Amino acid sequence: MTPPSPPLVDNVSTESRKKPVWPWVVGCLVTSFVFLFVVGIVGLLAAIAIPSFVKARNASSQNSCINNMRQIDGAKEQWAMADDVNTGASCVTSKVNLYLRGAVTPTCHAGGAYLYHEIGEEPECTFHGPMSGTSASGY
Ligand SMILES: [Zn+2]
Repeated sequence: MTPPSPPLVDNVSTESRKKPVWPWVVGCLVTSFVFLFVVGIVGLLAAIAIPSFVKARNASSQNSCINNMRQIDGAKEQWAMADDVNTGASCVTSKVNLYLRGAVTPTCHAGGAYLYHEIGEEPECTFHGPMSGTSASGY
């Protein structure tokens, strides 16, 4: 029978066995810098992309509005031909709308309202301006 082995003597104190703190601190700093770098890159990309998105959205809204005014202009001409209305006569919106899809005035996506004006004149959006005017051709 063998005698029990003596307990291992631990001469090293627990304080000196602790790992040093500095690698943890350096790790946290590196993680923080990486995080800030990634946030900065994302912010830079957003700063580049967002104006382009806004510009594209405005151009799309403007083109949609111009298309609506073309439809209104065509409906005015059809109504004038069908009802034998002379150039310069004021429009009857409810009769002109009969020549539009759904028999209703289209809506401007920017919130403008359409002014039909007289026969022979271009319709106008209160937000984008006249169909072929300068304010309708560019923001
Ligand atoms: Zn408009």
